[in-house]
Amino acid sequence: MKTPRSDTDTLEDEEPLLQDACLVDGEWRGADDGRTFAVTDPATGEVIASVPLMSTGETEAAIRAAEAALPAWSARTAKERAAVLSRWAALLLEHRERLARILTREQGKPLAEARGEIAYTASFLTFFAAEAERVRGEVIPASTRESRIVVLRQPIGVVGCVTPWNFPAAMITRKAAPALAAGCTAVVKPAEQTPLSALAIAELGRQAGIPPGVLNVITGDAPSIGRALCESPAVRLLSFTGSTEVGRLLAAQCAPTVKKLSLELGGNAPFLVFPDADPEAAVEAAVLSKFRHSGQTCVCTNRFLVHDDLYPEFTERFAERVGRLTVGSGDEPGVDVGPLIDADGLAKAADHVADAVAQGAEVMVGGGPHRAGGTFFEPTVLRGVTPAMRVMREETFGPVAAVASFHTEREAVDLANDSRSGLAAYVFTRDLARAWRVTEALEVGMVGLNTGFLSVETAPFGGVKESGLGREGSHHGIEEFLELKFWHIGGLSSPGAAATS
Ligand code: ADP
Repeated sequence: MKTPRSDTDTLEDEEPLLQDACLVDGEWRGADDGRTFAVTDPATGEVIASVPLMSTGETEAAIRAAEAALPAWSARTAKERAAVLSRWAALLLEHRERLARILTREQGKPLAEARGEIAYTASFLTFFAAEAERVRGEVIPASTRESRIVVLRQPIGVVGCVTPWNFPAAMITRKAAPALAAGCTAVVKPAEQTPLSALAIAELGRQAGIPPGVLNVITGDAPSIGRALCESPAVRLLSFTGSTEVGRLLAAQCAPTVKKLSLELGGNAPFLVFPDADPEAAVEAAVLSKFRHSGQTCVCTNRFLVHDDLYPEFTERFAERVGRLTVGSGDEPGVDVGPLIDADGLAKAADHVADAVAQGAEVMVGGGPHRAGGTFFEPTVLRGVTPAMRVMREETFGPVAAVASFHTEREAVDLANDSRSGLAAYVFTRDLARAWRVTEALEVGMVGLNTGFLSVETAPFGGVKESGLGREGSHHGIEEFLELKFWHIGGLSSPGAAATS
């Protein structure tokens, strides 16, 4: 473990936003039995806060609060709801530095990335504030002269949101912003590793004027909170971001109440480099898409597939560039790669490297736990990787880049699609016809063409196959929170009747 930080390096400046309670029905409260659990700094293992260990009873109370708040919130005009979301966005940006520091302390990512995440978090509020006013109905041509068909879009109701630890701030507003914009109310359960960002963001929401019960945030025992959200008939949508394994479990738990599901699950992103690619641009994008956030994002590249002709040059340049990445605590200046979230994350990265090496892969750089100790892992590049290795088949979720080769375009696409996941893919080519062909053939929800970056609030984020259901962000994202209701109106006079009567 690393040495603890000095006494002066506390979260004191962030105190106005630090919560040790949960927000239910507009009140900050603890667990019914007063139990709490510790939140630790992954860079040092130090306990930095304690938050309520809530369970079924508190979840049911939060659902009741959300249900009670629904009629008044959904009756507000879209403009009124938008004004609250806009104020919330402004407060987030005003407190960006404080929020970024909280995020880095509980999560580990470099401060620069945390600042970026807070801006991204606010962007969902700004975007969906505007989108609230664009939720419109339709008039569809009717089958008789005396009838009309009108389609309404209405809020689905109370929404349950379960979010992961890798984007502790952005995943809150990626769900809550469209939910509230649509007129829904929400019960949010952040990940147990990173509850502080969610609670701080909820406090700013309260200050922005979100009425009691409209946004509830509860922390605690994931299985019992999850079960209560899934089993409640009052919750009409479960929006989950996390592992495919837990997503599958929650989907099963939602089946008896026939709940709508929005699932953003694991990925196994391929990164295809064709012989006509710009090798320098491909390497820079590879570093971004693999090592951002220590490889702990669901759209991180998991499998590099590089054409034989470029393979030697790409792997050499890539390993040289990765060797220059700085590993350290997220709040140290100039750090590129922070710690992994926990010991399991570290063990998985180490296992994947060991398995690949045992099957003949070569470590070009890195390859094991970092000398900083704790959960720090060396940025690693492996070459001579083959499709059977675990590093190619399972999501590593760590700073390990596995580089395999291919010979033909068909082979590259087949390798890329040889996965039950289908979230993101990256394609590097300067041939426009190939870019179209390959993009259309890839079984994924998102493709980065000549870029290693995908996530923006204006685009529909989501996957196919076992990577999930539904889309988040963009004008499509709000649809998850809306139900269509059509209205067949009879007994009207025929068009033209007014002119003849
Ligand atoms: P990871 O493996 O990356 O931690 P998880 O899918 O386990 O991803 O976690 C994502 C979110 O799902 C977190 O908020 C976590 O608390 C929650 N979670 C984990 N297990 C359950 C469960 N059995 N029921 C409901 N939520 C769960």
